[in-house]
Amino acid sequence: MNTTQVKQLKALLAKAKNIIIVPHKNPDGDAIGSTLGLQRFLASQGHDAQIIVPNDFPKFLKWIPGSKDILIFEYQQAHCKSLIENADLIFTLDFNHFSRTGQQMEALLTNAKAKFVMIDHHQQPADYADITYSDTSMSSTCEMVYNVVEAFNAVALISPEMATSLYTGILTDTGSFKYRSTTSRTHRVIASLLDQGAEGTTINQNIFDNNSPSRLHLLGTALNNLVILQEYRTAFITMTQEELDKHNYTKGDTEGFVNYGLTLEGIIFAVIFIENKEEGIIKISFRSVGDFSVNQFARKHFNGGGHDNAAGGRSDDSMEATVTKFKKLLEAYKTALHA
Ligand code: 5GP
Ligand code: MN
Repeated sequence: MNTTQVKQLKALLAKAKNIIIVPHKNPDGDAIGSTLGLQRFLASQGHDAQIIVPNDFPKFLKWIPGSKDILIFEYQQAHCKSLIENADLIFTLDFNHFSRTGQQMEALLTNAKAKFVMIDHHQQPADYADITYSDTSMSSTCEMVYNVVEAFNAVALISPEMATSLYTGILTDTGSFKYRSTTSRTHRVIASLLDQGAEGTTINQNIFDNNSPSRLHLLGTALNNLVILQEYRTAFITMTQEELDKHNYTKGDTEGFVNYGLTLEGIIFAVIFIENKEEGIIKISFRSVGDFSVNQFARKHFNGGGHDNAAGGRSDDSMEATVTKFKKLLEAYKTALHA
């Protein structure tokens, strides 16, 4: 965040009475961590802010301090609607377009009278905010919130709870400090958060070591379904609704499954197709290593987007038709996949 933006933000905060913070639908570790981190930062500056998430978030994020006070739009629509309508300042975190909050919230945000501040690291940010702090080189929105705190000379005010929130989002969005977006600066931010009271071991255990037996069995099914297309350096997994039901699927259970494809030697493109009978769609996650942009691939062919190496999308076709379409596309991308 540059000095002009810091000035602008201070001016907006000085006038704001009703502040809302909103992340994207299906909030992940970075979405929850950054909103809670920002909320605590604003509190340290004397401002109350309410977090509203579009829909519920996974159990593996519900231990984060403050997460119980988050309002969930899908469960409390009328209350959240009135809060959004009466807000004079709305921070949108970890997304680049109102549509990423789902249809109903998108309409509310589009019509809101509030000023907007965007803090985000996804490509092609939409032009709705009064302050757009967008940086696609950032590891995570949590790292960007830290930058805001630093720009306000407020690092010393970071509490253990706030440090925990920001650490969590950086941890999950970097794939445990593994993705290309992880820089020496990312590690310096993490070091500072440890100094401010984040407990790395505890956070890692809370995120990664809380599997239910049914989730591990679901992973077994996913790995059994893995298809390796060595000729395209690609691997994909399918999960039908029936398979999910058989293992008592709950939100978050398939988180990270897609990454197993990339652990195969020579594979640079990994995909998971997850059937959602209720919504009548196949939800797709794309991951890559190196130069193959899954953001562009998801945008162009599967109504989605994200980052160069991690993106999501959807298909309204059946699982079979979706996979057939995907396989056909691979032939067209043979050169890009260096296959
Ligand atoms: P995931 O595969 O974990 O759902 O998402 C990977 C990344 O892509 C995340 O940064 C997420 O915000 C983004 N993403 C997921 N689904 C969509 C989508 O439908 N549209 C766009 N623009 N981004 C998405
Ligand atoms: Mn993120």
